[in-house]
Amino acid sequence: MKPEQKTRGAEEAMEVAEASRETEWEKPSFVGDLFLGNYRLDLIHPFPEQGVDDKNAGDAFLAKLERFLSENVDAEKIDRDAEYPQEVLEGLKALGAFGMKIPVEYGGMGFSAVNYNRAIALIATWCGSTVAWVSAHQSIGVPQPLKLFGTAEQKKKWLPRLAAGAISAFALTEPGVGSDPAKMKTTARPSPDGKGWILNGLKLWCTNGTRAELLVVMAQTPPKVVGGKEKKQITAFVVETNSPGVKVEHRCQFMGLRGIGNALISFKDVFVPNENLVWGEGLGLKLALITLNTGRLTIPAGCAAGSRRMLQIARDWANERVQWGLPIGKHEAIAVELAWMASHTFAQEAIAWLTSGLSDAGKVDLRLEAAMAKLFNTEVAWQIVDKLVQIRGGRGYETSASLEARGEKPWPVERIMRDMRINRIFEGTSEIQHLFIAREAVDPHMKRAGIILKPDATLGELLPALTRAGLHYAAWYPTLLIPKGRGKFGDFGKLGKHLRFAERASRRLARAIFHAMTRFQAKLERKQRTLFRIVDIGTDLFAMSAAITYAQHLAKKGVDTANAYDLADHFCREARLRIENNFRTLFHNHDDYSYQVAMTFMKGDFQWAEGMLVEGIVPTPEKIEEAIRSMV
Ligand SMILES: Cc1cc2nc3c(=O)[nH]c(=O)nc-3n(C[C@H](O)[C@H](O)[C@H](O)COP(=O)(O)OP(=O)(O)OC[C@H]3O[C@@H](n4cnc5c(N)ncnc54)[C@H](O)[C@@H]3O)c2cc1C
Repeated sequence: MKPEQKTRGAEEAMEVAEASRETEWEKPSFVGDLFLGNYRLDLIHPFPEQGVDDKNAGDAFLAKLERFLSENVDAEKIDRDAEYPQEVLEGLKALGAFGMKIPVEYGGMGFSAVNYNRAIALIATWCGSTVAWVSAHQSIGVPQPLKLFGTAEQKKKWLPRLAAGAISAFALTEPGVGSDPAKMKTTARPSPDGKGWILNGLKLWCTNGTRAELLVVMAQTPPKVVGGKEKKQITAFVVETNSPGVKVEHRCQFMGLRGIGNALISFKDVFVPNENLVWGEGLGLKLALITLNTGRLTIPAGCAAGSRRMLQIARDWANERVQWGLPIGKHEAIAVELAWMASHTFAQEAIAWLTSGLSDAGKVDLRLEAAMAKLFNTEVAWQIVDKLVQIRGGRGYETSASLEARGEKPWPVERIMRDMRINRIFEGTSEIQHLFIAREAVDPHMKRAGIILKPDATLGELLPALTRAGLHYAAWYPTLLIPKGRGKFGDFGKLGKHLRFAERASRRLARAIFHAMTRFQAKLERKQRTLFRIVDIGTDLFAMSAAITYAQHLAKKGVDTANAYDLADHFCREARLRIENNFRTLFHNHDDYSYQVAMTFMKGDFQWAEGMLVEGIVPTPEKIEEAIRSMV
């Protein structure tokens, strides 16, 4: 059985998403080139260095922030009470923490991406809920789209208020739409007097929504006819939460991040003035996606910092805990986990500071790197917390309050795990990051030979396009077979061999993408596991390159060379095993069979395996009803 054909609804959703894609590549992209077999280390090396003045500004704030956190933020109590104290929010506002990313001319601190992410990273080592309050406000909340797309008047009107601590939130998700926001139900209709819009709908999981003064809300505005075809329009608005008709219906509670103020918000005939429309009618989904793309560097920095905190706990415990006559860290099974955690934390750090630094320098397009940073750092941080729980044994599962009550070190590993899990889901799930990166990886090929990926292409369309593409590929393909890396990476000591591997692997990857296109043609879009393997290879190559340039950067700054090089070397060895495995299984796998088993499962043919009403599972009321219905 093959993956399902697309329905019309799916095609429509794809059309809207495609129309909202950023299609221009005005600046070079390291990862974009990597997927074409063009390994441009020069785009990420030398590793970007933070300027002295910028660093000093960051240091001064970080010192204040650190004091504030340790004196005022009780992460355990926030987690236990599932409440965030208002006075702590007021303290953060007074500190300027809600204006870090807002330009100085509007009353903010005008931080660089590096300084902002340093602050987020510091908070992430202390309290996940605090990270959410501060970052939902300025990584994706109203300041970010206003900075990117607001008019001068809009910036003047709202940014000073936002910098002073008027909390804001980002409202895209709805009960019926998550990863596919194109199909949202919230509407905005022009008001009869022409002075504004009337907003109706429901937005789910708005982080900060319980206490926000301002929201950026994406809503469907009336469709427009473009090129003879009716096109859905999604438009972004700034909404004051004290407007009549805005109501927090429910505060959502979660497994972790228990101190966040996340809300289900309803809009009933809410009047929104014309001046509150941001960027332009029909540009709302694009605004939301660009906001998420540019805001996407915060989570990777937070995850890397969380991993650093976990390394400390792992090292202390692996040395302290003795079982079978040895510190547990000296048993090989635990030792290899420690090495993995340390080297992968190093890679996360490299990615976080490389992307932040490149973002400040503004010379490269970071869309793909940012998505890879989100994907890699959240996945790795989750694996690290899982390993840490295992290393702590029973104590990893025990709450810190319970540990403290019986006189042990209250390391909050259980809370870190609960807080960490959401990172693989919000601001675009790992699956969606894979699909986004894959879409961009095949884009240059689509532009040249996209017609072969069109299911309904006629022979008349195919032949000339294939001839044109054929001429290009006939010249391009042989260049992928010519080694280019030999002797080029001498400056990198023992890491040079990994760069040579990366250079070769990027050409092999470009060939693999081309093979996948010609092999699967229009079906490639639905071959998600193949696409995911391609993306995972690219992501590991990016992570290797980042780790190596970071190691060299640290070495030049006088950090113990051997140590930084060892961590990068270990990471590269692990990444190369994954890369080889992904190449090996790219076209030789049982994906189709897995799909077939899953479809049988979805139909319910394996219900006996769930033990429904027979034995083994206590039946839920719904299952009992279902069974009774099937009997009558
Ligand atoms: C704590 C928290 C805070 C949040 N904060 C905000 C916020 O401030 N503002 C906001 O607008 N939203 C927010 N969200 C929503 C969040 O961004 C969504 O949960 C996320 O985008 C995924 O949507 P979903 O949960 O509806 O999952 P779905 O889209 O229903 O997906 C379910 C699963 O299916 C997978 N999937 C979906 N489509 C595909 C596909 N085409 N191919 C393969 N797999 C697929 C997903 O990856 C996922 O694993 C928040 C959510 C939480 C839990």
